[in-house]
Amino acid sequence: MTKENPSAGIPGRGFPRRVYPARVIGVGLGFISVAGVFVSAGAPPWAWLLLILNGFVWPHIAFLSARRAADPSRAERRNLMIDALGGGFWVALMQFNLLPSALLLAMLSMDNMALGGMRLFLRGLLAHLAGMVAGVLLVGWAPAPVTNVREMLFCLPFLLIYPQLVGNITFQLAQRLDAEKRNLLERSRIDALTGLWNRGYWQERALAELSRCRRQGTPAVLVLADIDHFKSINDRYGHGVGDQVLRRLAALLQKDLRISDILCRYGGEEFAMVLPDTECAGALVFIERLRETIMRCDLGPDYPGRVTVSFGLAQLAPVIADLPTWTEAADTALYQAKQAGRNRSVVHGSQDPDSSSS
Ligand code: GH3
Ligand code: MG
Ligand code: MG
Repeated sequence: MTKENPSAGIPGRGFPRRVYPARVIGVGLGFISVAGVFVSAGAPPWAWLLLILNGFVWPHIAFLSARRAADPSRAERRNLMIDALGGGFWVALMQFNLLPSALLLAMLSMDNMALGGMRLFLRGLLAHLAGMVAGVLLVGWAPAPVTNVREMLFCLPFLLIYPQLVGNITFQLAQRLDAEKRNLLERSRIDALTGLWNRGYWQERALAELSRCRRQGTPAVLVLADIDHFKSINDRYGHGVGDQVLRRLAALLQKDLRISDILCRYGGEEFAMVLPDTECAGALVFIERLRETIMRCDLGPDYPGRVTVSFGLAQLAPVIADLPTWTEAADTALYQAKQAGRNRSVVHGSQDPDSSSS
């Protein structure tokens, strides 16, 4: 049994977890910057108490409330506004002491811009303003913008550490997104049932191979394979067993191909291959061997019978102008193989479609 992730599938569940450590560190470093001014100015105990609560209790409350919220992303944006409000408030309580005030507002704005773009940044500016007004109403308007050396030193940890932390988080996020993008791209190329390339991606690869062979004047053969009377397997044993047969057959085909051969599930019970750098005679020998192997193979614990496959082969020739023409040639050969009794390989343009049967 797989262990269920309770937060899986709910949008924004991971957001509070990503913001939490950054807020713990950022607010802690911001505490030091403000504390430097409080030490110089001799702030009252209630201001210290508020600062300590903001610095060391608030990040945990923010995390817990966002994690429990029905919409964690929204709750986290609200928390960011509370951060911004707090920032404006501390600026007023420091009487607009220039360096720590600028530092606080710059870092909070950076967070808002990074997490919510221009919209959150502008909302953050309004929250800063509201916080400042609240602070001024509480302690009065007596600006003291000059920063002394000790206050500067208290600002250094925030100034030196926090941007690296945000940079690192952004980098990791970019890497994760990149990996997810590659993963999605890979998955969009794969047939879910068999794990082979799907038809769309195969066509891209086959077209590239066609162009390369044309440019370099090398031979190539396109093969279409279709399971004989597959419908009767479904009808008799059910779709699940039919799927199992398809998966086993796909694995069998893949095992016998060269790394340069391009194989896909072309449709329901049809497979397509491009065999690059291969002459028709060689391809026919290979496909015949494959056909005989398939005939002898056990294709599933639930399917007691055997399956046979018909193949149509088409060599790349000057008259073949594009991929649809090439595929059509192989399809015509496959049709001839079916008409001639199935379980055989037919080369497009060959005189005798019965030549390669069991
Ligand atoms: P022929 O020898 O002429 O090719 O006969 P056939 O029965 O193989 O061909 P037909 O086209 O009549 O039927 C193909 C069947 O393949 C019908 C369809 O239900 C089945 N099929 C297509 N895709 C899947 C699949 O993903 N899983 C299963 N189990 N069956 C599938
Ligand atoms: Mg078919
Ligand atoms: Mg078939």
